[in-house]
Amino acid sequence: MNAGEVERRLEVGVYPKRDLTIVRGQGAVLWDEAGRQYIDCTAGVGVANVGHANPEVAAAIAEQARTLVTCPEIFHNDVRARLLQALLDVAPSGLVRAFLCNSGTECVEAAIKFARHATGRSRFVCAMRGFHGRTLGALSATFKYREPFEPLLAGFDFVPFNNRERLEAALTDETAAVLVELVQGEGGVRPADADYVAALERSCRARGILVIVDEVQTGFCRTGRMFACEHFDLRPDMLCLAKAIAGGVPMGAVLCGPGIEPGVGVHGSTFGGNPLACAAALAAIEFMRSHRLQDQAREKGAHFRRRFDRRKLDAVRAVRQIGLMIGIELKEKATPHLASLMDRGVLALPAGPTVIRLLPPLTIGYEELDSVVDALHEVLGG
Ligand SMILES: *Cc1c(COP(=O)(O)O)cnc(C)c1O
Repeated sequence: MNAGEVERRLEVGVYPKRDLTIVRGQGAVLWDEAGRQYIDCTAGVGVANVGHANPEVAAAIAEQARTLVTCPEIFHNDVRARLLQALLDVAPSGLVRAFLCNSGTECVEAAIKFARHATGRSRFVCAMRGFHGRTLGALSATFKYREPFEPLLAGFDFVPFNNRERLEAALTDETAAVLVELVQGEGGVRPADADYVAALERSCRARGILVIVDEVQTGFCRTGRMFACEHFDLRPDMLCLAKAIAGGVPMGAVLCGPGIEPGVGVHGSTFGGNPLACAAALAAIEFMRSHRLQDQAREKGAHFRRRFDRRKLDAVRAVRQIGLMIGIELKEKATPHLASLMDRGVLALPAGPTVIRLLPPLTIGYEELDSVVDALHEVLGG
């Protein structure tokens, strides 16, 4: 059976797919069905921060699968309680409660509902180029991919990222929340400016507007801190998390400040807070803490940058790197270069038409990282 043929025939076809069938992973390496190996700078799109087939996470999943997979939130659960404590222990200060769900878009949906419920207001201000997910609520907050699905939720305004004046001008007494990424991921790996974030927080506080930070991609050590909020000393009212939270198992979470108390019946999820995902997340977070994964991301990101910058490449317009979240903006289309990288055994992502995005597992070895740089130099050096 050829997996590619079967998928092309049986899936609805919403994804642009590469002609590659991945069957196994270990650390930062993936293998295809022919046994060829690749250095993975996609990490399942920023999911496998603790590495593929992480032994601690695998053991926790296996153990929990034998103990209890499902337990709805109408009951308490020991593993869930431990995960909540671990999550709020590593969270930016001021976040005191959590809602657990199953994906990034779901945690954004929850945050939108909680913000409307807490403020009694229904307008949101979001950033151009921002990405928050594909379900209709989260899509309403997303800058791209909208047109075929309009009308979406009413009341979402978009302002240019990193523009204080335009942000301030968009805030009104009807604004429930500002929803932002601190480093735009899908939008091209674009970090927020510190003074922009400070002004955003100040303006929102002054007007009783909530600050919702979407760290679905930047969270869990990716940027060289446990959370990108720490780079800015930002205290969000809600923090949206998913992707790397559970070492590859689907999970999302919204962490909430003391002002967010939705109460019984406001929201819910059948799978949310299931013990299997909680056990995986607990093991993943424990791994991040004991291996100081944020320090590894910071040091490896700096190493990558030093090595990459040794060669001046005509095709490159700019490099944006924060920890192991790396965007290489080109003067030309990224897609052909992604194919050339794949031919050289390196898997990378796009972020918009002209940006090559690298999100390797944070456990990637220095030699692997050097091989990635060599492949990039070859491919981009012409
Ligand atoms: C990936 C992503 C999402 C959506 O997550 P899904 O799990 O794919 O629904 C939301 N926000 C940001 C910033 C993301 O990078």
